[in-house]
Amino acid sequence: MFEKKKYTFRGGSHVHEHKDTATLQTIRLPEPPTVSIPLSQHIGAHATPIVQKGDSVKIGQVIGVVENGLGCPVHASISGTVKEIVTRHNAQGVPIQNVVIENDGLRTQCETMQRRTAPLEKATTEEIIETVRQAGISGLGGATFPTYAKIQSAVGKAKVVIINCAECEPYITANHRLLLERSKPVIEGLEILMHALHVTEGILAVEDNKPDAIELLQRETADKPNIRVCVLKTKYPQGDERQIMYAIYKKELPPGKLPADLGCMIVNAETSAAISRAFYRGIPLVSRIVTVAGDCVKEPKNVRAPLGVSYREVIDFCGGCVKEPKKIVSGGPMMGQAQWDMDGPVTKGTSALLVFSEEYDRINTLHTACIHCGCCIQHCPMHLMPNYLAEYAQARRYDDAARMDVMSCVECGTCSYNCPAGVQIVQYIRVAKGALRAKKK
Ligand code: SF4
Ligand code: SF4
Repeated sequence: MFEKKKYTFRGGSHVHEHKDTATLQTIRLPEPPTVSIPLSQHIGAHATPIVQKGDSVKIGQVIGVVENGLGCPVHASISGTVKEIVTRHNAQGVPIQNVVIENDGLRTQCETMQRRTAPLEKATTEEIIETVRQAGISGLGGATFPTYAKIQSAVGKAKVVIINCAECEPYITANHRLLLERSKPVIEGLEILMHALHVTEGILAVEDNKPDAIELLQRETADKPNIRVCVLKTKYPQGDERQIMYAIYKKELPPGKLPADLGCMIVNAETSAAISRAFYRGIPLVSRIVTVAGDCVKEPKNVRAPLGVSYREVIDFCGGCVKEPKKIVSGGPMMGQAQWDMDGPVTKGTSALLVFSEEYDRINTLHTACIHCGCCIQHCPMHLMPNYLAEYAQARRYDDAARMDVMSCVECGTCSYNCPAGVQIVQYIRVAKGALRAKKK
């Protein structure tokens, strides 16, 4: 049985979990006939294509590079021929170049995908950072910040590396399945980061709704005195980095600061496994686990999908829709983004694809005015006053919203979830934040 002490944070909410896919083995999606790989899948600069129409490409081959600024390369997820390079709009309406590859069915791997022979102890910090950058790894929890830059920012500052296995969003079980099926690379990724940052304390932070994963991780780290498993109370948004830090160390991250400024380096569990695959086997980030669920989906599943496969193909693989879909969400229901195109591609940030019918969406139509109940304030994990932020945003009083610290909102959606009046608080807050960012430019 795992340790009794459970770590938690102030605020937050107990949301309906809907983790129905937690017991289902991850299935590899059959390779699609084509993939459409966006050249921008993470925070930072867009990549420039280095392939042309008609070129042959192999799995893991670099097809786009970022020459200046924050960013990492983009790789082919299947082998075949570049059919075209087209500009498509992503879910935010931003035009992005996509490399469309026609599958040759040969699964030819790029020669750069080589197993490492030298032990971890021989690797330098710079070598690890460059390996992570070359592998195109960005935060797979949904934040999509380039991981190499995160490691860079923690050099000389981090005292502990935390692997975020909380997975607090409803429906999503991709990390839970990863921990049960591939815990070794998750732990290896932690050890690589600890070595890179010269850190002697490593933590696997898991919510207590995953007792099987906790017991497995505890068994597998029993002979590793520098690594421990921290059991977190199941509460949303426990997976937010700030809440993990507070839960374990009771440290609050001041606005504008990074976890590394307070001595913590935090990465998602799947990101950690991707670091291990890149370091030990030379495999860049070309696929990810996606939880496919929602009341419309006939056979909800966790699938390992090649980047660039369309949402439609992933959902069809799960038996398609049994009801008329009203909304398709990339990511969790709390922080994910509604999509407008079923042919949009799975990217590095697609932790889940959720398809909901009208029935599930109805709650969003019950809007009334704020009744000043204070529920949103009580639950906000950032200790903000969401009702005022929403009011200021509606009135376009963005400077007043800024004075009330709107930029510290992590857009977790806890306020909207708990609002009895159905005020779309987080949507208003996003508008205010967008307006303030635009004003700064
Ligand atoms: S105001 Fe922001 S941080 Fe607070 S509950 Fe709402 S979305 Fe979350
Ligand atoms: S929860 Fe909703 S109704 Fe209550 S104070 Fe906040 S915005 Fe107003």
